[in-house]
Amino acid sequence: MNTLETTSATPTTPTFPEISFPNSGAHIGRSFLGYALEDACPCVKAPCGLVDSIDPTCTEHRPELAKTMRQIHDASACPALSTQA
Ligand SMILES: [Zn+2]
Ligand SMILES: [Zn+2]
Repeated sequence: MNTLETTSATPTTPTFPEISFPNSGAHIGRSFLGYALEDACPCVKAPCGLVDSIDPTCTEHRPELAKTMRQIHDASACPALSTQA
């Protein structure tokens, strides 16, 4: 049981109440450009710099927080992989 109350100081308006981002198989990021938010969070990162596996303590990427992901691609379409000749 997780009794942690993580009340955000800045309330956000969820755009999608029933959001269902895949927790694996996709790389996601909340930064518009670059990976500043991803660098600062505890999630496991993919080679491209986006989140590969969401950390249960993360306050940015957990699906239940319904925050907007501004970058997303399938793991199989990761640009970090396409650099392999
Ligand atoms: Zn995170
Ligand atoms: Zn990627």
